[in-house]
Amino acid sequence: VEREELERRVEALKATLQRAGVRLTPQRVAVLREVLASEGHPDAESVFRAVKKHVPEVSLDTVYRTLWMLTDLGLITTLGSRQPRVQFDANTRPHHHYVCLRCGVARDFETGELDVARLAEGLAGFGSVETLHLEVRGLCASCAGQAG
Ligand SMILES: [Zn+2]
Ligand SMILES: [Zn+2]
Repeated sequence: VEREELERRVEALKATLQRAGVRLTPQRVAVLREVLASEGHPDAESVFRAVKKHVPEVSLDTVYRTLWMLTDLGLITTLGSRQPRVQFDANTRPHHHYVCLRCGVARDFETGELDVARLAEGLAGFGSVETLHLEVRGLCASCAGQAG
């Protein structure tokens, strides 16, 4: 994420939080900034480690509570289920994920070629189909390189 774009997104989210009545403590702002700055899909522990460099008094508990607050407000989303090691995602546009089976890196991708109507046929009787999220798994280029 480019610096200017990052600052723009941080300011936009801070304004949204203030409208939602959330007090903008330095710790919360640091967590917010870290999630937005992250290229990947950080889990709470890695956000915690990064925030601690700037705000040494931050606790893992505060990081978790801030991340869930942002999730509840719809400002970030999560990947997969909440257990065991949830990852947070600052990209709330519809998109899919490529996940490396070895290092766990998750990258965003978009595709317009999925036949949602056909997919819905296979889900007849399950209920309505609102969104589609693909998780494609494999060995990322970097891990494949290391494997030879
Ligand atoms: Zn990998
Ligand atoms: Zn994503």
